[in-house]
Amino acid sequence: MKENCNIKYSLSLVFLSLLFAISCNTSQEQEQEQTSSERSPNFVIVFADDLGYGDLGTFGHPTIKTPNLDRMAVEGQKWTNFYVAASVCTPSRAALLTGRLPVRSGMTSNKSRVLFPNSIKGLPAIEVTLAEQLEKVGYATAAIGKWHLGHKEQYLPTNNGFDYYFGIPYSNDMDLKTDKGYMEYWQDREAIKTEDFNVPLIRNTEIIERPANQNTITKRYSEEAVKFIQEHKNEPFFVYLAHNLPHIPLFASQEFIGTSQRGLYGDVVEEIDYGVGQILTALEEEGIAENTVVVFTSDNGPWLPFGTHGGSAGLLYAGKGTTWEGGMREPTVFWSPGYVKPAIISSLGSTMDLFTTFSVMAGVPLPDDRIIDGVDLSTTLQNGTESPRESILYYRGPELYAVRLGDYKAHYITQGEYGQFGEREEHDPPLLYNLSHDPSEQHDIAEDHPEVIQQIEALVREHQSKLVVGEDQLAERE
Ligand code: MG
Repeated sequence: MKENCNIKYSLSLVFLSLLFAISCNTSQEQEQEQTSSERSPNFVIVFADDLGYGDLGTFGHPTIKTPNLDRMAVEGQKWTNFYVAASVCTPSRAALLTGRLPVRSGMTSNKSRVLFPNSIKGLPAIEVTLAEQLEKVGYATAAIGKWHLGHKEQYLPTNNGFDYYFGIPYSNDMDLKTDKGYMEYWQDREAIKTEDFNVPLIRNTEIIERPANQNTITKRYSEEAVKFIQEHKNEPFFVYLAHNLPHIPLFASQEFIGTSQRGLYGDVVEEIDYGVGQILTALEEEGIAENTVVVFTSDNGPWLPFGTHGGSAGLLYAGKGTTWEGGMREPTVFWSPGYVKPAIISSLGSTMDLFTTFSVMAGVPLPDDRIIDGVDLSTTLQNGTESPRESILYYRGPELYAVRLGDYKAHYITQGEYGQFGEREEHDPPLLYNLSHDPSEQHDIAEDHPEVIQQIEALVREHQSKLVVGEDQLAERE
């Protein structure tokens, strides 16, 4: 009897410990599962300057070698109809970071196309940046590279939601010290030196180097990004890495000079690609690649008057400064082993969509007191399905020049820039192109499709009925 009791007692102890072990395990597993599914994704935006649609291997360049970006395109998504909101630096960057057309924020002007070292203003404090969105839910945030949204302290990244800034606050060709005129200076390309450009390099709000040594700037930007990722691997982070190059003047590190078959421009793009590879490797080594979304794109099309020092828009017409496709369609790839299903996406996307998409993915509500032009692309990223974006508005300064609706693009005004692609011309009826059939905008089909023009006009009326033009922030100079 006593023995029986002991056995029963021992058995119940075993049973209880088993039960305890199982329940412990289950709650541990649940906890683990919860942590990985609840951990917000990290975001890395790599933004090139003046890189053309045709300048990457994966977008068809025959001699520029970009194995890391090509890899992102194969393992992730290559977007072939992805746009910026302006064809020059300042408004394009304002749009990416705020998810809004620059005409709304006043970050575009008919008096000055971008900000200059003697500009007084910058991105208005009332605008909400993607960094400000993400910091609401505890993200660590860094801006590395070109800013160009105001170089005075109150406009710098550290006053726009970024915990950390390292970079040149405007274009790398500004502060040019020369006795010659600007265009004359570029005639002797062999003589161009980094010391000729008195641009500052800033850490947070302090100038740490002037003139910034641009020979090593691309390398240093990539290294800063890698370091920030390593230091913040245990918390959600957002890195906005905006390279100053391949905007002219072109500079590359010693290791890259003379290595590309495409010449100096190729050396520069290949060094940017190398840095992208370093970022992907760091994410993989830290075990956070699954939980990180990396996107690469450019701020506007190639600066064509600079010959072989400018890039190529591939089969797209014209370049930087214009509302032709070459000015505003950008080579874009998204990569994330955990969030992005491999696909080629030929439906529409915009840099403004990054604001909305990443806010949604991080669980941050969108501002509800203003119009946001970004569209949520997260379903397309996750499933490889068509993008929900239906249209693209092509602004030049505060004026609407063209509209794309689905396959069709209507030009109401066309104008070249930098002495190329013609003078300003208004079109009534508008020029109409089917961009799926005619990506180079060569065959006007307005006469055959009055119904498409009517649809586009309805869209323009709807857009303009709600438009409040922001006060011009670019015109005022010292
Ligand atoms: Mg640019």
